[in-house]
Amino acid sequence: MTRKYSHPKYNKFRFDAGSLALNFVATVRHRGAQPRDLLTTPEVLADWLKLTGCSKTVVLPSFHDFDKSILLREAIYRTVRSFILNEAPDAIDVNCINDTAAYSLAVPQIEAVSYVVRWESVHPIKACLAEIARDAINIIGHIERNHLKMCDNHGCQMLFLVNSPANRRRWCAMSLCGNREKVKMHRQQKKCA
Ligand SMILES: [Zn+2]
Repeated sequence: MTRKYSHPKYNKFRFDAGSLALNFVATVRHRGAQPRDLLTTPEVLADWLKLTGCSKTVVLPSFHDFDKSILLREAIYRTVRSFILNEAPDAIDVNCINDTAAYSLAVPQIEAVSYVVRWESVHPIKACLAEIARDAINIIGHIERNHLKMCDNHGCQMLFLVNSPANRRRWCAMSLCGNREKVKMHRQQKKCA
């Protein structure tokens, strides 16, 4: 079992979940079996925020900010998962998302003469978390429930958003879980034959 997810590709951030909030949730890999949290330190969180474009300036989250970020991520995970499964969400999780969404966003300001755009924020990390929380609210409020999915690979269970009208995707990615499941099904068919 340990070997199954030991490949370096399972240690990488994923930015293909279809939304900022779901990409954040996906920083825990293969939640269905042996979950691996890639956000191990405030420095790694800072890198992730920078990579997503959420963080407009280089800011290192405090340990307190880091803890709040992880709490938000897990609140989003549980709430979206409950939404997909048509179950009632946990009120504490919903409050966490709503409270975070109420933080101020970063504001763009244009410099006179140079036209350089600066992003101003009283608390840059809170501004990033607000962006993520608002995205979570947006996908729950404005996306058809059946376009939000949980990967069919039981070990993965990544949450993702399907943007195509056909809406046939069952796996987070064919190259990761789709092929794995197809090989498994093929082996099972051969055994039965
Ligand atoms: Zn998957």
